Amino acid sequence: MRAIVMYSAGDVRVEAVPDAGIVEPTDALVRVTHSCICGSDLWPYKTMEPSDTGRHMGHEAIGVVEAVGADVRTLKVGDVVVMPFAYSDGTCVFCREGLHTSCVHGGFFGTVDVDGAQAEAVRVPQADGTLVVLPVGEDDALMPSLLTLSDVMGTGHHAAAAAKVGPGKTVAVVGDGAVGLCGVIAAKRLGAEQIIILGRHRDRVALAREFGATDVVSERGDEAVERVRELTDGYGVHSVLECVGLEQSELTAIEIARPGGAVGRVGVPQDETIPASQPAFFNNINVSGGPAPVRAYIEELLPDITEGRIEPGRVFDRVIGLDEVPDGYRAMNDREAIKVMVKP
Ligand SMILES: [Zn+2]
Repeated sequence: MRAIVMYSAGDVRVEAVPDAGIVEPTDALVRVTHSCICGSDLWPYKTMEPSDTGRHMGHEAIGVVEAVGADVRTLKVGDVVVMPFAYSDGTCVFCREGLHTSCVHGGFFGTVDVDGAQAEAVRVPQADGTLVVLPVGEDDALMPSLLTLSDVMGTGHHAAAAAKVGPGKTVAVVGDGAVGLCGVIAAKRLGAEQIIILGRHRDRVALAREFGATDVVSERGDEAVERVRELTDGYGVHSVLECVGLEQSELTAIEIARPGGAVGRVGVPQDETIPASQPAFFNNINVSGGPAPVRAYIEELLPDITEGRIEPGRVFDRVIGLDEVPDGYRAMNDREAIKVMVKP
């Protein structure tokens, strides 16, 4: 089969690789109908050290079950399924608490453990716990939005949940990538009264406004902090969704939270330490977040998509085949595209 393999920063190849197949009795084999490139794929795209074996990329997918292992109970051949970016058994102590990204039998796609989903097919471990059957056919018009349940919509929702967004709250979203944009959707969905997006890409902030952002702050650093304070009677916001992961964005996130506020972090931190420890302490700011347990949120978010209340699939502004994926990485890295869908 064909799959995307990254060998070093900037070196993304379409390659013939051994076919994916069932290895463990709890596995499912899924033929990938929809995948995509993630903002987090751009970190190795910028920094990966050369590797002889390469890394199989991709952790977001919708597909059709082609085969199941002997112990799989809830899935059958032909089911259309969505795959969260992490696999999980759904039964361990952490899964039962809704923290599937800490599953004791879990792991992540597109790593040394399991190959990626930017491929014609993918092996899904812990299939009963991981996969969710979708109530639509494989060519349904809702597919772009349903695909965001793999990662970005669930991750935006996790940022909002960690930032304690609720009815009447003031919210700021740091970052205008696909996760930040889904964070706007999540904040509005949870009843936020004011939603300030911090971003500077014209097309992205325009989409953020359509998703429910009430204000746009295009400044950075101290000027951004000042603008957010102006917009919030000088106090800062109740809830900050940090969707970038750089030192500057984390610093801004803490500085724009009002005393007693919360920062929900979903941008993968690129540094070992969190900045602004003292302001966070003296303002009693709750800093939370981490890898989103998107599996935990699918049942909650799915009806909002199928019943048309939210349309997160609008973050996809380019659709390509596997052959064009190397250029898809380039386009996302150059900010030519917000998020690229791949149809293998
Ligand atoms: Zn588990």
